[in-house]
Amino acid sequence: MKVAIIGAGAAGCFCAVNLKRALPDAEITVLERGRRPLAKVAITGGGRCNLTNSFLEINDLREAYPRGARLMQRLLRRFSPAETMQWWEDEGVQLVTQADQCVFPRSQNAMQIVDTLLQNMRRMGARILTESKVTCIRPTDSGLDVSFNNTTEHFDKVVVTTGGSPRMEGLNFLPELKIEQPVPSLFALNAGDAPLHDLTGIVVESTPVSIAGTKFKATGDLLITHFGLSGPAILRLSSYAARHLAENNYRVTLCINWMQGRTEDEVRSMLLDYGQSPRQVTNMHPHHLTARHWSVLLARAGVSESRRWDTLPAKELNRLAAVITADTYVTDGRRAYKAEFVTCGGVALSEIDSNTLESKRYPGIYLAGEVLDVDAITGGFNLQAAWTMGYVVAKSIAQPQ
Ligand SMILES: Cc1cc2nc3c(=O)[nH]c(=O)nc-3n(C[C@H](O)[C@H](O)[C@H](O)COP(=O)(O)OP(=O)(O)OC[C@H]3O[C@@H](n4cnc5c(N)ncnc54)[C@H](O)[C@@H]3O)c2cc1C
Repeated sequence: MKVAIIGAGAAGCFCAVNLKRALPDAEITVLERGRRPLAKVAITGGGRCNLTNSFLEINDLREAYPRGARLMQRLLRRFSPAETMQWWEDEGVQLVTQADQCVFPRSQNAMQIVDTLLQNMRRMGARILTESKVTCIRPTDSGLDVSFNNTTEHFDKVVVTTGGSPRMEGLNFLPELKIEQPVPSLFALNAGDAPLHDLTGIVVESTPVSIAGTKFKATGDLLITHFGLSGPAILRLSSYAARHLAENNYRVTLCINWMQGRTEDEVRSMLLDYGQSPRQVTNMHPHHLTARHWSVLLARAGVSESRRWDTLPAKELNRLAAVITADTYVTDGRRAYKAEFVTCGGVALSEIDSNTLESKRYPGIYLAGEVLDVDAITGGFNLQAAWTMGYVVAKSIAQPQ
């Protein structure tokens, strides 16, 4: 059997290795438009490669996969995170699971992942052609003709693993596929408000953030930067609300609960307890907030720093409780987070058979990885999707049902 895999990324290369193992006689050609295979994997996780996650803190897959949770639920039963970790350990890649449940190679070097895949492909005889951009796939009576670099080769099966991008231009050769409009996911937000600028560098742990007037919310550490807001809470929110944010040109009202999710009533009664004290309002405040941050919040609530807790008028106390549990900032754009992003959108999941990942419209063509409308929050979930889908396609081709 001759198989073309289009795109030498995580999904494509993982598929190639597992297909070659399952069907040693298969002739596999991986076509990559770039100069280097696995170029993106080499820079994942800041060069350390967060290759999966223990999933222990995920109660519902929709938390990890805002798009594609149902498909991933089905596919992860076929190739789970535990099986993924075992796969890499069997290849001699020792792994470590961090306290936040992210899994990295013990070497802390993404090149170990790249080299392991490439060595396997070379050893088993899978051909990789770089600088080979696929421009056309034509179904024939006996299979599929694939055109690249002014040549056309015939294959029995084709696997499309061209990844995501804002215009999905890598997929021009399958014009009839329904595409969910691609938009970026995983980014920080600009918020021009001056009060935040004074707080650059502050991290507030376990902070709930939401977008006013919507159901989008996320919780995590919040980092205040010179341009606005970042950190896990905002990245997660940017993933959940990727499409809404794009539609609103990244101008929304962000609502921040600086009190780790405590309600306004709970905070009011905490402030009433402070009201027993003759200390100044600046000198007594919730432990997890810095003095600098507290001063900014007092100013935002219109409470003078020289006030004493035991003489603070009820009106001001109520205003303070309201501000610190639902502080609002208007965003005015987005920022790449450490150059990390994924694409929300891609080939609609209605286009594929959810057991085999074969295209319903183009029999013999399979799709896997970020090219599909599946994407995740940060934490190793995106690469897990690429490994799992690559594996499932390999099995589907090797053992057709
Ligand atoms: C900087 C950065 C850091 C990241 N870090 C992490 C992380 O630590 N953990 C994690 O889980 N996720 C991470 N991600 C996300 C993760 O890397 C991707 O979700 C994953 O690589 C997607 O794999 P893929 O195989 O589907 O696509 P890709 O890896 O994007 O591969 C697609 C390949 O197809 C090629 N191609 C496209 N069109 C054609 C064509 N017409 N002909 C031939 N070739 C073509 C492309 O050149 C590319 O090499 C990160 C992303 C970025 C950008």
